[in-house]
Amino acid sequence: MKKYVNEMKVVFPSHSANEGLCRSVVASFVAQFNPTIEEISDIKCAVSEAVTNAIVHGYRYAPGEIALRVRADEERCMYLEIKDKGCGIENVEVAMQPLYTTDPEGERSGMGFAVMQTFTDRLSVRSKIGRGTVVSMRKKLS
Ligand code: ATP
Ligand code: MG
Repeated sequence: MKKYVNEMKVVFPSHSANEGLCRSVVASFVAQFNPTIEEISDIKCAVSEAVTNAIVHGYRYAPGEIALRVRADEERCMYLEIKDKGCGIENVEVAMQPLYTTDPEGERSGMGFAVMQTFTDRLSVRSKIGRGTVVSMRKKLS
């Protein structure tokens, strides 16, 4: 089993206000590993895209639970996981394509997954219709 030097898990309701909470919490956790300003900002952006998706798509603004888990290994690699128990994604491969959105009428541009991909080293998404979605990302600090 993989050994982590530190880890945390926060569970919070799917309120829009908690996007900011998530950004702060993940930044505080990562700060102990002396990241660069850019690394912190990349991680905050990636996590907040995933949390926003859980709120607006997963739960469609209805009340639900989101879990943010962050773990760090001895190589300064951060493992970020955002989990919801919302509607799930029918076709993950299609959903991850840049500019793909199921909300073209709204304010969405379909760039969330592209942002997560750009700002982290690895992105994987597991989802089941009616069960929810788990977004996992990895980012190694310099
Ligand atoms: P943007 O992020 O640019 O505001 P977006 O959210 O539509 O737009 P992505 O974040 O790339 O774009 O997500 C693409 C699509 O994947 C969404 O439109 C939605 O259909 C689906 N999706 C993403 N995350 C979830 C989730 N947690 N639960 C259900 N569907 C999701
Ligand atoms: Mg999005």
